[in-house]
Amino acid sequence: MVDHPTKANGARVLADLHALRAIGAYKTGVHRPTFSEPHLRSLEWLAEKLPETGLAAEIDGIGNVLGTGTKPGPKLLAGSHLESQNFAGWLDGPLGVVYALEAARAINPDPAIQGAVEVASWCDEEGHFGHFLGSRSFVGDVTEADIDAARDRTDNRPMREALQAAGLAGRRRRIAERGRHIGYLEAHIEQGQTLEGSHLGIGVVTSIVGIWQYRITFTGEQNHAGTTRMRDRRDAGLAAARLCVAIDDRFSASCGPRTVWTTGRITLDPGAPSIIPGRAEMLFQIRDDNSGIVERLEALLREIATETAVASGCSVEVERIRTGTPAMMDEKFQRAIEEAASDVADGKSTRMPSGAGHDAQVLATIMPAGMLFVPSIGGISHHWSENTDDADIVKGAEVFVEACRRLLAS
Ligand SMILES: [Zn+2]
Repeated sequence: MVDHPTKANGARVLADLHALRAIGAYKTGVHRPTFSEPHLRSLEWLAEKLPETGLAAEIDGIGNVLGTGTKPGPKLLAGSHLESQNFAGWLDGPLGVVYALEAARAINPDPAIQGAVEVASWCDEEGHFGHFLGSRSFVGDVTEADIDAARDRTDNRPMREALQAAGLAGRRRRIAERGRHIGYLEAHIEQGQTLEGSHLGIGVVTSIVGIWQYRITFTGEQNHAGTTRMRDRRDAGLAAARLCVAIDDRFSASCGPRTVWTTGRITLDPGAPSIIPGRAEMLFQIRDDNSGIVERLEALLREIATETAVASGCSVEVERIRTGTPAMMDEKFQRAIEEAASDVADGKSTRMPSGAGHDAQVLATIMPAGMLFVPSIGGISHHWSENTDDADIVKGAEVFVEACRRLLAS
């Protein structure tokens, strides 16, 4: 067992999470899209809490909240995000922010511990305006032109207008000071069923999968649904449907143990009940942490698409519109989480990849990074009913604080 007094205060963690849950509450979850009034209030909430931890708070020009300290010694950066998907859960993001806050509260005032935990809340992890805009801005990967072009995917509001209304226009964007941090640690709900199903309290994330996205367009012949005989048709919609089935039949022989693939949207043109579709567009996605496996699947996808097009009398174009960059989590961070779980969670942990994207994958491009998962009840997430047992929330906080302590000590 641990022989030092620095540990998480579970009741305080739960109270903070419930305070955030009340900001933009929706049923048992929250509706807190990026730059909405409740989202801005949650950023203020965090900025007001940070001085308790010995950190000076700043909300920067893209809506990141950063807590920066002056305590000498190594600095560990920790955080997550405060905005939510529309009408979604209360823990996706806030859990990691509150754990980071709690680690800073427990560790920073302790004179026996060299160094400090610094806290970050990254803006727009949920992608209302873009793609990890807050953490990418911090690593220097967002230009002013990117912000000019960004618009809210729900109401098309320009990001510039949202920043202006939020009072953030004209503020500087904070960029990572290279070498300041020994690394970045983030906690998150698992959003899947691995931990719950195996009764293992803590997930030690090994990697965050990359996402490869494709636009597949079949072109056939638009015609009358009543007068065109079946044998004369070149139905692009039918070709798309056939491709979905063929992918499902044939990918499983070539994929890796954790590969997942999804056709998220099929658009038929013109999309009317009495017209044979002349054109069908599919948005298709593959996720894996192994680029080699995805290269193999992409070659197979192109082969199956061509076969399907020929069999359907159509032509096909397969475009890769997004290339995945899997992020490997740092081995030392994985060990620190595991050892912390041995100390305070009866060793109940398991190593696992993350199938969802997280800010840690962006931070991993400039510093060592690690992630810890706590179980999600029923694996449900991106829905207002998302939840985690209080006992698991508290256990996760204890492991998180202990992992931070170990990383600073090493
Ligand atoms: Zn999240």
